[in-house]
Amino acid sequence: TKATFDRIKATEPELEAFITLNEEKALAQAAEIDKAGISAEDVLAGIPIGIKDNIVTEDILTTSASKMLHNFTPIYDATVMEKVYDANMIPMGKLNMDEFAMGGSSETSYYKQTKNAWDHERVPGGSSGGSAAAVAGGQLPVALGTDTGGSIRQPAAFNGIVGMKPTYGRISRYGLIAFSSSLDQIGPMTRTVEDNALVLNALSGWDKKDSTSAQLDVPDFTKGLHDGVKGMKIAVPKEYMGEGIDPEVTAQVEKAIATYRALGATVEEVSLPHSKYGVEIYYIVASSEASSNLQRFDGIRYGYRAENVKDIEDLYVRSRSEGFGPEVKRRIMLGTFSLSSGFYDAHFKKACQVRTLVKRDFDEVFKEYDLIISPTAPTPAYKLGENLNDPITMYMGDLLTIPVNLAGLPGMSVPCGLVDGMPVGLQIIGKPFDETTMYRAAQAFE
Ligand code: GLN
Repeated sequence: TKATFDRIKATEPELEAFITLNEEKALAQAAEIDKAGISAEDVLAGIPIGIKDNIVTEDILTTSASKMLHNFTPIYDATVMEKVYDANMIPMGKLNMDEFAMGGSSETSYYKQTKNAWDHERVPGGSSGGSAAAVAGGQLPVALGTDTGGSIRQPAAFNGIVGMKPTYGRISRYGLIAFSSSLDQIGPMTRTVEDNALVLNALSGWDKKDSTSAQLDVPDFTKGLHDGVKGMKIAVPKEYMGEGIDPEVTAQVEKAIATYRALGATVEEVSLPHSKYGVEIYYIVASSEASSNLQRFDGIRYGYRAENVKDIEDLYVRSRSEGFGPEVKRRIMLGTFSLSSGFYDAHFKKACQVRTLVKRDFDEVFKEYDLIISPTAPTPAYKLGENLNDPITMYMGDLLTIPVNLAGLPGMSVPCGLVDGMPVGLQIIGKPFDETTMYRAAQAFE
């Protein structure tokens, strides 16, 4: 634990991945684990882990990278934190991200700009950019991220690591600061596939505190990891390999396809015709849910409060105006509009209907295939500032990951090559609750 903090401190001035370090508590916890000793089954005991700053941690500052929560120290732990402690893993600190997980480059953080671990002039991706950079930069072997539209997979791709967004319901969301509740999932970000599966083992399971968590047994996700892909049927959606995707990125995915064929899998082209509406649907659904979820930040119950207010209305308005950054405000405005009377049917309701069509396309393909693969993101990591003032370009960066959240499916990113010296990710999409097969395909490729 001490050596890990030394490494973090040596690299942090360049990477800027952390918002808060948890040094005192982590060292005390490590000493306790040393004293108690660990058993052979306790495979994760003593392993340092980083926590994205939208996951609530008892007695540890939790900001969601927002000024709104600059002073929020929770009085309870998220369910995933209880599981982290049960596994005797050691939380080293809280990781930078886009404000309230809204963004794809970690540039909307109120606190700092995390850098890509491969090139400090490039974005680390987002919103789990701090998690990805910390793992890729050798600060930590594992970090927790969250993924609403791609926020685990895209930064994993941009930093050349393994990132898993499990099936919706696999991991409890209790204690995750809600962005879009029907899309959000927590998941592990690691250097290897096996590490990822081990951490998923520890985090998964039904939780009575999250009514959307699934009442299913949790398999051992490392089982069959090395069984290979011989006989597997893998689909490649043509819409995910064409327009809007950098041809050099698709070339890396073509190489992965050739590898799978050489290893004995069948790889065939399919169509997911409604996925092209994914980005539009997402920005209505996610912003609508966000506008509702973020109502709790009223300047009264917790978080930032404006000073010298005239009356209660002034308190609400000024606390929210001063506490939220521009991207968060953009989403609240868009979501409030989509839900407002007179526009609800044309926007929110319509988006929910098309969301069902996106899901049905996946159901059809999974009748015949075990997995779907594609690039994770349309480009490698871009330069800091390059897309910051261009929300539409930024939003299109998630076109390959968003449909997976809309359908509630598990999706992961594994490194699959380089373009101009920057890593590119292969996205592997699985059937609901079949993370095991995804890991097997990822491991075979590794
Ligand atoms: N980049 C997407 C957004 O800005 C996805 C974010 C996420 O998955 N949390 O909303």
